[in-house]
Amino acid sequence: MKNHKIRIRTYILIALVIMLPVLFNLYSPVLLSLGIRNGIITASFIVFAVWFIISLFMGRSASCGYTCPYGALQELVGKYVLNKKPKHVKADKIRYIVFVFFFLMVSYFVLKIGGLKGVDLFAPNGNPQLVILIPAFIITIGLLSVLFGSRAFCRYLCPQGVFLTIGATLGRKIKMPSLHLISNHKDCSDCKLCDKSCPMGLNVSHMVKNNDMENPNCILCGECIEKCPKETINYSFSIKD
Ligand code: SF4
Ligand code: SF4
Repeated sequence: MKNHKIRIRTYILIALVIMLPVLFNLYSPVLLSLGIRNGIITASFIVFAVWFIISLFMGRSASCGYTCPYGALQELVGKYVLNKKPKHVKADKIRYIVFVFFFLMVSYFVLKIGGLKGVDLFAPNGNPQLVILIPAFIITIGLLSVLFGSRAFCRYLCPQGVFLTIGATLGRKIKMPSLHLISNHKDCSDCKLCDKSCPMGLNVSHMVKNNDMENPNCILCGECIEKCPKETINYSFSIKD
């Protein structure tokens, strides 16, 4: 049953990567920025807004863990092909700086244009800059995984990840039931298979030992749950203190 579940997620990741040229129209900070620069709400804007609402009760699972094609690309390259983990813990903070920069940039565009003017889902598609921007963006995040390990962009640079972490934290603050990890450290044999399985390069066994499964880098992908031979880790959907 467990292997069956793993296979399903792996297939989802492969499908996301194959569909990346199409999904780019829906999940792109580049297209979101180009639209906002002209006061236009694009498909990417709507998808990111929906992801934020979902993050209130699903954390980063539905977005980063299961539907983001960039995350899928990085995980397949970094973890499955190269077996390389992101290890630079101090670099985690860079994405907060990127988030602030991105937030200020979007706010500046909205203020400069005098507010949002309307909705045109695929407005930036005719922009000639995209011929360079789209492949450059995809190649860059793929390369980051080659150089720094699986999901290096997610861990060190993605502003959307910060946005969704804010959503997850907000959901807990207002006492919404939410998806999160739980563990029973007494069952743990310290085999560290969970550490090896984590595509975000987290020290999961340490989290289990400390009885603290909360981590802003956790995308709730469930790989550690599937790999643990002692069934120490599990999902819970409940109000978290
Ligand atoms: S801690 Fe577990 S659920 Fe979270 S990212 Fe790592 S493997 Fe996925
Ligand atoms: S895989 Fe399970 S038993 Fe092994 S270290 Fe992780 S939590 Fe403990």
